[in-house]
Order: sequence, then C-alpha cells, then structure tokens
Amino acid sequence: MKISILGSTGSIGTQTLEIVRDHSDEFSVAAITGNRNIRLLEEQAREFRPALVCAADEAAAMELKIRLADTDIRVEGGKDSITEAAALPEAETAVVSVVGMAGIEPTIAAIRSRKRVALANKETLVAAGNIIKKCEAEYGKCIIPVDSEHSAIFQSMLGMNDKKEIKRIILTASGGEFFGKKKEELKNITPEQALHNPNWDMGAKVTIDSSTLANKGLEVIEAKWLFGVDVDDIRVVVHRQSVLHSAVEFVDNAVIAQLGAPDMRLPIQLALTYPKRLSIPKNELDLISYGSLTFEEPDTDTFYALELAKRAGREGGQMGSTLAAVYNAADEAAVELFMKGRLSYLGISEAIEKAMERHRAAVDPSLEEIYAADKEAREIVRSL
Ligand code: MN
Repeated sequence: MKISILGSTGSIGTQTLEIVRDHSDEFSVAAITGNRNIRLLEEQAREFRPALVCAADEAAAMELKIRLADTDIRVEGGKDSITEAAALPEAETAVVSVVGMAGIEPTIAAIRSRKRVALANKETLVAAGNIIKKCEAEYGKCIIPVDSEHSAIFQSMLGMNDKKEIKRIILTASGGEFFGKKKEELKNITPEQALHNPNWDMGAKVTIDSSTLANKGLEVIEAKWLFGVDVDDIRVVVHRQSVLHSAVEFVDNAVIAQLGAPDMRLPIQLALTYPKRLSIPKNELDLISYGSLTFEEPDTDTFYALELAKRAGREGGQMGSTLAAVYNAADEAAVELFMKGRLSYLGISEAIEKAMERHRAAVDPSLEEIYAADKEAREIVRSL
C-alpha cells in the first residue's frame, strides 16, 4: 500500500515511518511533507524514497532541493505543495498529521481524490467538521481516526448493527498532571511543571492541553463529528492508567471498549491497515501488572476548559458553528502566552471563555468564516 505522510517530521509522522520500516512488505511511501525541518526530511527521503517531498516553508524547500539534487525525488515548497501531496494520484492513503489549521485543506484534497484519510490532526474536525462531513457525504466515508481515544471508539463500533443502538460514548482522559488539585493550588503553575505527562510522550501543546482538559474538550468535538453523536451523549471519564482508551455504551447497556498499553503505533497502524490487523512487536498489555484500573469524574469546576468545549460543540448541533474554531484558536493562543510566561495557568481557560463570549457565532460556517473566527479569537486572546 502506498501512503503519503503529511507532517512526516512530527511525532505521529515519525512513528508512521517506523511502522513502514517494520512492515516494508506492506507499505511504501509516495510522499512526505514537513514544515522546515529539512535535515530530517532529507534523511527520511533518502531512506524511504518517496516520489515527492514537500516543505511548507519556501526557503527550506529551496535548500532541500539542493540537498536532494543527486536523487530523482521531486521537491516542492509552499503551503499548496502540502495539498498537492495530499492528492498525489499514486497514494491510496494520506496520513494527515500536520499541525493546526493547516490540516484542513490537505484533508479536503485527500477526500476529494478518494483516498483513505488517517486523520491525526484535531483542528480539522474541531474547526471545520461541518465541511469535512459534507465532503465525505459527497465523496464517500474515508476518515479513520488516529487519535487513540477515537480509534478505540471506532474499534468498539466494529460489528455494530445500527448507529441508533449507540447510547453514549465514554471518552477516557488521563486527567493530566494536576488531577485532584484545586484552583487555589494551580495559581502559580509554571510551564515546566505543566510539561510533564506520565503516560504519553507528546508535544508541549498537547501536554498542556491534557492538564487543562482542553485536549479532552477538543476530543469531545472531534468525536461528535467522527461518530455523529451529540456532545451531551459523550461522557468524559478520568482514567489515570490510560489503558482503556475509550468505550461505547449501547442501548442494551453493553459497554464495548478497547484496551491496550499506551502506544500510538496501534491506532496509527490500524488506520492504515483496517480492516486488517498487523503485528506490533513488544509493548503488549499485561493486565496483571496494572492490577486495578480506576475511573473517576472529571473536576470541571477547576478544569472548566472541558465545559467550554462542550458549549462550543453544542452550538449549531450537527451543523456546527464558528464557536468551535474560536475555542480551538483561543486555547492555542493562550497556551502560547502561558509558555512565554505572559499568562497564568488558570488564565488559559479564562482566555478561552472571554474569546467565546465576544464572538458572534455563525452556524454551518464556510471555510472563510472559520478562518476569520480563528484569526479573531487569536487577536482577542493576545489583546487581553
Ligand atoms: Mn487523544
């Protein structure tokens, strides 16, 4: 199977290439793209020999072209080249693991060129879920989630008879670094303290978002679009061990879950191979070594970014609204300010709330309205 990896230099991208390396009889690489990490892009290009390598940063692409001049690999630069890579005819699957809003257009391009989309980018569905769903309605359902929780939900629904038989989705959350703490204890949290996550090895933004529950908030909205359920039919449960990756509860009260050791290779690989499963060496789940699994209510009074996400996700119902894009952008801008020491830890949720309050939401928004809402929210947060 030929795959294109958009965002090959990031955490999901490099793990996807590890899977390709482990199963070279199953996969080959059609295209890889990055932003400006040309050292790694060059290394990956030489090892996996894709037909196309793209760097979103034009200057970086120029240098990459020189570095790869001795090969027959085509090098392209600029934002549009990422979209071109997404639609590359020879690839059957596009892994969309680019960061941020930049994931939206490549995802649309991949759907339109009738590829399977292994979607690892949250912003695409959170901000533009209504557009992606319309696109899938026109070109065929093709998105398979890579996010571990959504992969678990996807797996728990396999063999389901009728969507109407779903009662609710149970979305598990690690709880983050400060689970159990109250507002009073979180006043003086520094970026260094927030950057530690015991179960998952993630980027800085996701680690902060896990601790504020904003990440779970984004995942609630993501689940709404992926599985066509109402936000209020998604129950977030704190599960500190990150072993039960999420579950689906059906009308007969059966709860089907997927469990496993925390390892992103499983959801990435399954998104590529579904309905087939391939072996993964090591890292199997040893239930005995855990002994017990715990489940607790999230403290949404302290970590109210989760409640704000539900509010944003409810707006417009299954048609969606710009409020979700505002939530996402305000959080990103606020985390950036926090990392620079210009906003307190508790200020992150406050900033999201303020941006949401000032925004006039549009239902079933166009891409232009979504981008405008994104920009507006960032400006509001920076002006606070
Ligand atoms: Mn996740």
